[in-house]
Amino acid sequence: MQKILVSRCLLGQRVRYDGGAHGPFGLLERWQAEGRIVPLCPEVAGGLPTPRAPAEIAGGRGAAVLDGELPVLTDDGQDVTAEFVAGARIALELVAAHGIRIALLKSRSPSCGNRENYDGTFSGARVAGEGVTAAALRRAGVEVFSEEELAEAAARLAELDEA
Ligand code: SF4
Repeated sequence: MQKILVSRCLLGQRVRYDGGAHGPFGLLERWQAEGRIVPLCPEVAGGLPTPRAPAEIAGGRGAAVLDGELPVLTDDGQDVTAEFVAGARIALELVAAHGIRIALLKSRSPSCGNRENYDGTFSGARVAGEGVTAAALRRAGVEVFSEEELAEAAARLAELDEA
């Protein structure tokens, strides 16, 4: 049975920067009961507290953070790049340890966002982009979906189970 890496905040765990969570999502509860979910909050795993200051990346470019080209900054100017990169490394360790090929991550997060991100101005403006952990997973060949693509993720998981 194929395992899936899932953002902890999508499992109702209160690890969001503001202390909140998301869900419940019925499908995720089923996957949890099946024992196939490997949960991770990259920001908390990387050493940040909850609650914490919101962070963004200029241009929403998580891959550029991995390459050392851009920092991750909070709205009050703290550099949290090291914690974000540490969280991405932990994600890579987990996928290697569990043979994971698919992830379901929270949309529009500077760590987890898979298609779109806030643009680094803390104005609510969005750009095409991805979070630091999502970028690291993609580079490792992991397919990254968001909670807005639950049906697509479920279909891909079923295909991987059959393969
Ligand atoms: Fe943690 Fe990712 Fe959820 Fe943010 S979006 S709280 S980093 S799991």
